[in-house]
Amino acid sequence: MGGRRRQRIFGDRVRGARISAQHAREQARKAIREADAAECLLWSEQMEGFGGPAQPSPTIAQCLNGGYGWLEVMCHRCETRASLPLDAIRRPRDTPIWKLEAALRCRSCATPGYAPPVHLIRLTRERKIAPYPWVHPDDDR
Ligand SMILES: [Zn+2]
Repeated sequence: MGGRRRQRIFGDRVRGARISAQHAREQARKAIREADAAECLLWSEQMEGFGGPAQPSPTIAQCLNGGYGWLEVMCHRCETRASLPLDAIRRPRDTPIWKLEAALRCRSCATPGYAPPVHLIRLTRERKIAPYPWVHPDDDR
């Protein structure tokens, strides 16, 4: 019986199949990353160009995966703009970006009784503006 021969042949086949599987997995990951980046760009262009619709939007995870790590926002009241690092936002990663709008407020002009609404502008790959004047409500507690 050609046990050794069989082992060699199947060893090669399994190795080949494993490489194919890994390659396919990598291609899939890359395709998802490209799709996520495309969604981020689409959402950003719509928001910046037409002011919306904000929904549906990519999730925090999709933004980070697509390389769009910064969310640019503007205060409706004082018009301060800021870039927020998405990886620092303490929300589940499957939270859609549009949901953050209601959760953010401006530090420059907010009072204990009044939180000026925030307007989402776009997603960016790099920080465009200082994040300083903006807080997440959870960070105050
Ligand atoms: Zn403000």
